Amino acid sequence: MAKERLDKVLAHLGLGSRKEVHRLARAGLVSVDGEVVRDAAFKFDPAQARLEVDGEVVVYRAFFHLVLHKPAGYVTSTSDRDGQPVTALLREEWQRDDWMPVGRLDKDTEGLLLLTTDGELLHRLTHPRWKVGKRYYAELAAPATPADVEAFAAGLDLDGEPLQPAELRLEADGRRVELVIREGKYHQVKRMFAARGNHVTYLRRVAFGPLELPKDLPPGESRPLEPGEERRLY
Ligand code: URA
Repeated sequence: MAKERLDKVLAHLGLGSRKEVHRLARAGLVSVDGEVVRDAAFKFDPAQARLEVDGEVVVYRAFFHLVLHKPAGYVTSTSDRDGQPVTALLREEWQRDDWMPVGRLDKDTEGLLLLTTDGELLHRLTHPRWKVGKRYYAELAAPATPADVEAFAAGLDLDGEPLQPAELRLEADGRRVELVIREGKYHQVKRMFAARGNHVTYLRRVAFGPLELPKDLPPGESRPLEPGEERRLY
C-alpha cells in the first residue's frame, strides 16, 4: 500500500478529527514501528507498520462496515436534510463522514441496513447486474394468494418496467409474508403489492445477500460486522 500521512491514517482509523490527532502526535502519544512520531505529516505505509497510540496497538483497516437495525422514523441518509438520518443513531465512536448506506429503506421501513466505507462493495451489492437478493418480512392489508406467488415468480411488470422473478412465501393466513427481490427500485416492495391490489402495512428487511439481520440486535442499535459476516460479503 502507498505511504500515507500520519494525520490522515489516524483520522481514518477513527482516532479523532485532524485537529485532535495533531494534538495526540504533538503530545508524543503516537509511535510508528516503536519510534515516537510528533510530526503529523510523517508518511508511512499503514498496512505494514506497527502503529501505537497511547500505548495501545492500533490495527489498520482499509474499510469499515456496520450493520444497523434501522427503526421506523429515520431516513436512509447521512445528512439531516430530509429528516433524522440513520447515522444519527450511531455511537460517538462510530461517527465518521464517509459512511455509505447499502440500499435505501423508506422512512417507515425497519430492519437490516449495512453501512460501509467501501464504494466498490456498495456497487457490487446494489447494482442490478449482480441480482443480490434482499429478503423482506411484510404485513399486508389483505391476505396474499397463490396467484400473487405466481405473478411475482413470473416477474411482475411495474409501471411498464419488467422486474426480476421474486420469491414470495406466505405465512399462516397470508397477511404475513416473506419476499426476496433481486433489484432495488424505489418503494419496490410496496409498489409490487400495490400492483396486485394489496397494501403493505409493515415492512422489515431481514437479509441482504448473505447478511442476516442479527437476532440479538435491537432496533436503533448497530455493530461492526463480525469477521465471518465480512468474509461472506467479499
Ligand atoms: N421496498 C419498499 O417499498 N420500501 C423499502 O423500504 C424497501 C423496499
